Amino acid sequence: MTDILTLNAGSSSLKFGLFELDNPGAEPVAQILGEIDRIGNGPHMRARSAAGAVLSDAPLSSEDAADHACALERVLELIARARPGAAIDAVGHRIVHGGPDHAVPVRLTPEVLDALARLEPLAPLHQPHNLAGVRAALAAFPQAVQVACFDTAFHRHHPWVNDTFGLPRAYYDKGVRRYGFHGLSYDYIAGRLTQIAPHLHAGRVIVAHLGNGASMCGMIGGRSIASSMGFSALDGLPMGTRCGQLDPGVVLYLMQHEGMGADEIADLLYRRSGLLGVSGLSHDMRELEAAGTDPAYQAIGYFVFRIRRELGGLSAALGGLDALVFCGGIGENSVHIRQKVCEGMGWIGMELDELRNRRGETVISTDLSRVRVLVIPTDEEIVIARAARDMLGQIG
Ligand code: ADP
Repeated sequence: MTDILTLNAGSSSLKFGLFELDNPGAEPVAQILGEIDRIGNGPHMRARSAAGAVLSDAPLSSEDAADHACALERVLELIARARPGAAIDAVGHRIVHGGPDHAVPVRLTPEVLDALARLEPLAPLHQPHNLAGVRAALAAFPQAVQVACFDTAFHRHHPWVNDTFGLPRAYYDKGVRRYGFHGLSYDYIAGRLTQIAPHLHAGRVIVAHLGNGASMCGMIGGRSIASSMGFSALDGLPMGTRCGQLDPGVVLYLMQHEGMGADEIADLLYRRSGLLGVSGLSHDMRELEAAGTDPAYQAIGYFVFRIRRELGGLSAALGGLDALVFCGGIGENSVHIRQKVCEGMGWIGMELDELRNRRGETVISTDLSRVRVLVIPTDEEIVIARAARDMLGQIG
């Protein structure tokens, strides 16, 4: 029996999963899934067993989870308690940026870690935290195989026109490109489509990953053709606190006329914009849906409008559309957002079945709808666990 740990370190959170592998070719089976959030500032640990039993739902002291290394210690204590004897043979890490070169997961060596640290300027608000998680795990499990799984990797085969900006070529060569993110989620959805609707997997599919972070990806035959996110995790759809698509002239204006520096602008665009900024109320879709105030309606309206614009643009990039898949916390749970996105989309051949949508069925379009609309819960952790299993298999 082999145990695999998956880690997904965000700016103030550490999501984790413990998976068991029966034999080298088997599917990893989740045993424990959990998260510590608000690391360093009122941390809270939640974890449940695969069977749904609550293993932890309690605040931690700020010293107990002062940083990612401390948080990992708490995770290991929980695993030791819940599954005495678990021996971690491999650790899989979600890494936001793999740069232009990484199209597949890679084994983490000191050299790879150095190379990934050099990409920090490309994802300053995510990459350093991801790598903090890696360093903590390398210290805790020096013998284990450690694998990096990149959010950018799924998009590395974009056609050139979807990989570039209209800037002088030298910037492309320096790495200023449209990378695209949420690749682990898209990879999972592409895999699920091969199981539940192989004919759709072969066709033209748009996946809307709508969570706190949100993006959309157009695929043909399960490969990414275009993504709403570009150079950074800011572009495309408005998100919980990120602005989404923005005229770069706005950034120039903020610098030249509002006297804002780079750090202030980064804080504005990453942490104070999106649903939170437009509503002035909350980054959280559930709270906005419950609020019933004009600014909340406007924030939701803007979110939906941008999704519909991307839907049109990505459909053109794909040369038509066979299926739309919703996933992520909002995509999987919000009946209202799914309905608003699909409303009046008959022109593209899409017709929502309201009852199926309310029930949250897998297929929520009518039988007559030419474009199928699906809801597929995503699972980034299993994608990481499979990559760790494959790496264990490769190195014997
Ligand atoms: P992350 O990007 O942090 O993984 P999630 O995928 O968990 O985020 O999505 C979080 C978002 O999903 C929040 O805006 C939350 O309000 C929203 N959400 C979760 N459940 C519902 C629901 N039942 N109705 C509407 N929105 C929901």
